[in-house]
Amino acid sequence: MLEFKHVTKRYSGGKPAVNDLNLKIEKGEFVCFIGPSGCGKTTTMKMVNRLIDVTEGSILIDGKDITKQDPVKLRRSIGYVIQHIGLMPHMTIKENIVLVGTLLKWPQEKKDKRAKELIQLVNLPEDYLDKYPHELSGGQQQRIGVLRALAANPPLILMDEPFGALDPITRDALQEEFKKLQKELDKTIVFVTHDMDEALKLADKIVIMRAGEIVQADTPDEILRNPANEFVEEFLGKDRLIQGRPDVTTVGQIMSESTVTIETTETLKIAISKMRDKRVDSLLVVDSSNVLKGYIDVEMINLNYKKVSYVYEVMDSEVLAVSKESLLRDTVHKMLRRGAKYVPVIDESHRIAGIVTRATLADLVYDTIWGDGLEIEEPVVSKA
Ligand code: ADP
Ligand code: MG
Repeated sequence: MLEFKHVTKRYSGGKPAVNDLNLKIEKGEFVCFIGPSGCGKTTTMKMVNRLIDVTEGSILIDGKDITKQDPVKLRRSIGYVIQHIGLMPHMTIKENIVLVGTLLKWPQEKKDKRAKELIQLVNLPEDYLDKYPHELSGGQQQRIGVLRALAANPPLILMDEPFGALDPITRDALQEEFKKLQKELDKTIVFVTHDMDEALKLADKIVIMRAGEIVQADTPDEILRNPANEFVEEFLGKDRLIQGRPDVTTVGQIMSESTVTIETTETLKIAISKMRDKRVDSLLVVDSSNVLKGYIDVEMINLNYKKVSYVYEVMDSEVLAVSKESLLRDTVHKMLRRGAKYVPVIDESHRIAGIVTRATLADLVYDTIWGDGLEIEEPVVSKA
């Protein structure tokens, strides 16, 4: 379906941004490119739809060299989703979804029909088609960005950190939705991320890049089992220690149910006294139905105490949360990689169900190590 043959890209005389890349992607595969910032992920994507020209080597789609095709036609035949979706603000959602159809001069009935079909795929009501982008939330806009890429039914879709700008809860939801959608539609997807959680969750194959080169390309399982080198291990995090405990698999089984929360409408003064009482430096912020809205910590209060009075004015709504059913493996991963001290656990309605802290994990990790008789050189979670 998509093949890279000795592909190199040099922007200037210096080190190549992509160096002798060789890779075959099969039809229907979901491939995630992952690697640190600047390793050449975006460059690789843009060479596929010829937004950037290859310096050496060739890229083939269905066996045909892309340089032999008209770049505009090529681009319209490939879906492309990027982080800042770039919906057209003056166009309705419908016009945005069928943008490529308009370029391809589809008749109006065909566009209407296609827009209705598509909006159902992401469980948004049909009357959203007549709204404008600014009337939708970030997550909804990103769904529309995905639909726009699907509109002309391209067999190949390129996605460059498409969910990178979303809050963690919306991102999780969209990942699940998208993975399901991809299975149903049988598309070939090339997906760029710098988030290993995302790659492990979505990919059939993960391509790990470093400084313009492929370090390892394999299934998530194989990469977890046999990381090619220390760089890959580092990227994976240290959660493999936990896998020796088959009896503990989901977050719900190990979380603590005693969480310390505060309502959005409370004052900062109350927040401080609650922290003092409970001897914590951070509170989970909830609404009156115990739905998680964010968190607040001592530093945030300190910085703002003179200026504002209420929790909702200071809280950070970017809080990583997991569901009770989440695999422990994935959760540990997230915590260690992001340096989170804890992660709240939520139910289907986003209400707080409990919390997993580094202390909880430390117990587990040490149990595991004792059980395995392994030695550990470096304490992994004892920094908590
Ligand atoms: P990633 O998407 O993995 O973060 P990029 O593909 O954007 O990485 O960049 C790879 C390398 O190429 C980086 O060193 C970056 O600075 C360089 N680069 C990217 N775009 C350009 C450009 N237009 N001109 C010169 N250098 C560039
Ligand atoms: Mg990039």
